[in-house]
Amino acid sequence: MNKCRRQKRLGQKQKRLPLPDRLRVGGVTYRVEQVKRLEDWTGEGDLVLGEVEHSQATIRIRRDSDPDVALTVLLHEALHAILVQAYCHDECSERAVTALGYGIAGLLRDNRELAEGLVWGATQTLDLDFGDAGEEVAEA
Ligand SMILES: [Zn+2]
Repeated sequence: MNKCRRQKRLGQKQKRLPLPDRLRVGGVTYRVEQVKRLEDWTGEGDLVLGEVEHSQATIRIRRDSDPDVALTVLLHEALHAILVQAYCHDECSERAVTALGYGIAGLLRDNRELAEGLVWGATQTLDLDFGDAGEEVAEA
């Protein structure tokens, strides 16, 4: 009985968000960790919801976040990783990364055909009708 209670307590402490355990970014597999707290290394007193440590290929997300927010934060951290990989991270402000993260997440969430087309390829997911134009291209 104690064991069950302990597991229940542990289960509550270890509440997991519906996030992937790994994320491929630029050919690198990043481990996605869900953590209780993240240190505000900026010293600005901000609530830090995520961080990426490129040298360790690790992304950390606060596990007490709302699931939709956590997914957007994961995208945000992936954008940081892309910029670090391209050696242009210092040229892009945190505000720009945040705008891109929420912007891309909203774009994909609100336009399912775009998201599916990007993932599976347009010809697999969209019912495209090129009409006569398609035939002319084929004959050329
Ligand atoms: Zn950031």
